[in-house]
Amino acid sequence: MFPDLTPSLKAAAPEIRGRLLPNVLLSELTWLRAGGPAQLLFTPAGADDLAYFLSRCPLDIPVTVIGVGSNLLVRDGGVPGVVIRLARGFNEIAPLSSTRIRAGAAVPDVRLAQAAASAGIAGLAFYRGIPGTVGGALRMNAGAHGGETKDFLVEARALDRGGKLHIYGNAGMGFTYRHCAVPLDYVFTEATFEGTPGDPAEIEAAMKDVAEYREANQPIKSRTGGSTFKNPPGQSAWKLINAAGCRGLRVGGAHMSELHCNFLINDGNATAADIECLGELVRERVLAHSGITLEWEIKRIGIPAGAGDQLAAAE
Ligand SMILES: Cc1cc2nc3c(=O)[nH]c(=O)nc-3n(C[C@H](O)[C@H](O)[C@H](O)COP(=O)(O)OP(=O)(O)OC[C@H]3O[C@@H](n4cnc5c(N)ncnc54)[C@H](O)[C@@H]3O)c2cc1C
Repeated sequence: MFPDLTPSLKAAAPEIRGRLLPNVLLSELTWLRAGGPAQLLFTPAGADDLAYFLSRCPLDIPVTVIGVGSNLLVRDGGVPGVVIRLARGFNEIAPLSSTRIRAGAAVPDVRLAQAAASAGIAGLAFYRGIPGTVGGALRMNAGAHGGETKDFLVEARALDRGGKLHIYGNAGMGFTYRHCAVPLDYVFTEATFEGTPGDPAEIEAAMKDVAEYREANQPIKSRTGGSTFKNPPGQSAWKLINAAGCRGLRVGGAHMSELHCNFLINDGNATAADIECLGELVRERVLAHSGITLEWEIKRIGIPAGAGDQLAAAE
């Protein structure tokens, strides 16, 4: 448990409208279902509320933003400072023309795909297979089935640590494979995407193919974080993991999926330490077998178990 930051932050930002909750277990808000609490979970009421909060939140309090946690490992000691989770105030989605659609950062990627299909905007069907939000897709340059966020983004809006608005065109995002170069403490609030004119029935059919492929080839109903490691240039992470004998490899309550061996699974009782340790073991074995160092795609946040107590004792 962390000390409660609510009273001091409410005093610093008295007009705040969003919800502040101390010591909220983040394992309940992530796909991997492991890890400790957020010192303070802030759910802003909207972009203005978020900007106000950021402008008042003292700079020595760390701020971390999460989406729906489909690419996230929260360590067992939790996340010190404020964790921002966007919800209702960031959920609007609206077609702007026959090719453009704007979505709030909390909109699920699946809903973006569906809304684009209904509006006859082709190109965004790949989002049907990605279980994150628009904010997470911007940060991760999420992609699948030959499409990537960078291919369709027109503009993204983000608030910096002081609450100032920044508007990025596609080139300004600095997208590379599963990465965007916008500073890590900026919070995306909305984005506009551009596809091509298409037939809604054909787009629906493409989305159905994506969903069926996922169902057959990935453990999408398990506690997982999707691809654990990025594909190294010219290589497939899963092939390297398989060749190193790590398919099914286990540490505590976590194992590498038999179905897709770059997916890491929490059997139900894994600690975040089990999960991270398993990932590091896979990296070691792949390095020893192929000479290639795998890079984590899953984002790891927070501190190990017990580290919070040590921090509190040191203060
Ligand atoms: C079954 C499964 C299948 C998957 N398949 C794919 C796939 O095919 N392709 C793919 O690319 N990914 C895939 N993923 C990974 C994941 O869904 C994507 O990375 C997704 O974009 C993460 O979005 P999220 O909302 O869950 O973000 P989170 O996991 O909550 O966060 C991921 C990162 O985004 C940042 N972030 C989130 N919201 C914001 C915001 N508003 N502003 C700034 N930063 C933000 C976080 O700080 C963090 O660094 C899969 C995951 C699972 C569980």
